[in-house]
Amino acid sequence: MNGYNMRSILKCVRCGTCRSLCPVFDVVGWESASSRGRMLVAHGISQGMDADEGVFKSLNTCTTCGLCEQTCPSGASPVKVIENARHQLVLRGKMTDAQRSLRSEALEKGNPLGEATERMSWLGDSKKHLPQKADYVFFAGCLGSYRYPELTKRTFEILKKFGVTVLQDEVCCGSPLLRTGSDPSDLISNNLEQIKQSGAHTIITGCAGCYTALKNDYPEKMSVIHVSEFLAERLAEMDISKLDLKVTYHDPCHLGRCNGVFDAPRQIIGSICDLEEMKSNREKSKCCGAGGGVLKGYPDISLAISKSRLEEIPKDVDYLVTACPLCRTNLKRGNPAVGVLDIIDLLEMAMG
Ligand code: SF4
Ligand code: SF4
Repeated sequence: MNGYNMRSILKCVRCGTCRSLCPVFDVVGWESASSRGRMLVAHGISQGMDADEGVFKSLNTCTTCGLCEQTCPSGASPVKVIENARHQLVLRGKMTDAQRSLRSEALEKGNPLGEATERMSWLGDSKKHLPQKADYVFFAGCLGSYRYPELTKRTFEILKKFGVTVLQDEVCCGSPLLRTGSDPSDLISNNLEQIKQSGAHTIITGCAGCYTALKNDYPEKMSVIHVSEFLAERLAEMDISKLDLKVTYHDPCHLGRCNGVFDAPRQIIGSICDLEEMKSNREKSKCCGAGGGVLKGYPDISLAISKSRLEEIPKDVDYLVTACPLCRTNLKRGNPAVGVLDIIDLLEMAMG
């Protein structure tokens, strides 16, 4: 464990502020499934402690939502510590089946979903007609390509009008590996090479996980924006009608709290219809429960967190809108009383 993470562990005064906020502790109730407990487990790992099922259940149930990191009065960084402890264990060959599966599928197939089909088939034949070089490139992501191909196609149809292109050979951004302790260097190198070849100065993504990986974890600093940021600046150039709807908005943790993208999605919503905020929102927004490998490794915990988040939907809204395919997937798993939309779905409804 490096000096930064060790200092973080030593900064922790066990005050428990984070414990009362951690969405996993909220539904699980074990001390070891709170950030305070995870800091103690991570300290043990740094001292050579071995991993058993209890250690995995502590470290691997963190969604990496960042709420603890934002509120820690001592300035500790539990998420970095937890991710690093996972990495230390993976280096020792200690990981769960879920971690092993994410890693092998991502490295062997270019996506953690295990899909063997052509990644960019959502584009149809139009790929051949797209420019290989452009100032902006759209990074579709694994969920976008394989689980929401129609939405991805429609998103790109809008972006294309503004001169955006795609990478010739995109693979997983590496986020699922970064968050669960494995090394995504091969995936990152592939994408960096593609980005260089595209000549783009900015990468656009519709996924919060891709956003934070590309922006914060890649070895080269790059301009990365969310599709909502790109389109919020171009609303005047789009033919948008007002809709008689009221929606609420779920801030994806890795877009909002971790990267400060709060206003662009709200600007798009505000140009279309009324917005009523969820009980916790913006920096204090509660997690959907899917991130950090938790949906894959601990689906029951992930579902319980989703249901807890859904309790914060205001009573009289027509839709729950979000801006990340992973959040959307897990919020839908919680069976909300209203439909769940991506911000692009809402935009398209207003574009007729
Ligand atoms: S809030 Fe910070 S200092 Fe307090 S227990 Fe959590 S990590 Fe430790
Ligand atoms: S990042 Fe979120 S889930 Fe993980 S320990 Fe902190 S508050 Fe809990």
